[in-house]
Amino acid sequence: MKKKLIAGNWKMNGNLAANEALVRALLEGMGDAACTVAVCVPAPYLAQLRALRSGSALEIGAQDVSQHEQGAYTGEISALMLKEFGVRYAIVGHSERRQYHGETDALVAEKTKTALAHGITPIVCVGETLAEREAGKTEEVVKRQMAAVIHTNGHCISEIVVAYEPVWAIGTGKTATPEQAQQVHALLRAQLHAATSHSDRISILYGGSMNAANAASLLSQPDIDGGLVGGASLKAADFLQIIAAAR
Ligand code: PEP
Repeated sequence: MKKKLIAGNWKMNGNLAANEALVRALLEGMGDAACTVAVCVPAPYLAQLRALRSGSALEIGAQDVSQHEQGAYTGEISALMLKEFGVRYAIVGHSERRQYHGETDALVAEKTKTALAHGITPIVCVGETLAEREAGKTEEVVKRQMAAVIHTNGHCISEIVVAYEPVWAIGTGKTATPEQAQQVHALLRAQLHAATSHSDRISILYGGSMNAANAASLLSQPDIDGGLVGGASLKAADFLQIIAAAR
């Protein structure tokens, strides 16, 4: 069986002192976690994280990666740069980037490709808005988002991680029920299975107000392989309880 993956998404939060306290508490509390644990931190803190995690099992992730290799792209951060800081994961296509930065399915697919080309595991986010769910379009939307990534990356998609993040559940305190999440995970699993014979390697995480109280029931679903955790990853005690629930 695959190890579960619990990845924190700090979003645009943190400062040097708070990061240090949080990471030290995580390292102390994690022990021999049964799952893989990562924190996806703002880019300026990657060097700090690399030093703090040194020799530990805590993995580092970025929150985005450029589709370009290098060059005149002011403000962008390349996969090669991330690699230099020991980054293992990069979130790609988070709904906040789709919504506030106009990221399209095609761009998300390109970013996935660039990350893979440089040995960074993209955590590819898909998910429907509340309006889309209420219009009965959940399946159509997540399949369309996934199809773009599959189309551009072919058999290489066996190396990605997928995060199903219903937009209406992100940062709202409204979590998908385990059954709602499982239903979408199962259809994503089937779509990935049709695209690659190595789909069993792909972890499908759930994200959207996962917390210490609901993690165990979500993580017990057959097609939920871990979590992408926003708000609750900023509190060591909460994040550690989610990590403990992932076995
Ligand atoms: C996220 O930002 O990916 C997320 C799931 O946030 P939250 O856990 O706060 O809903």
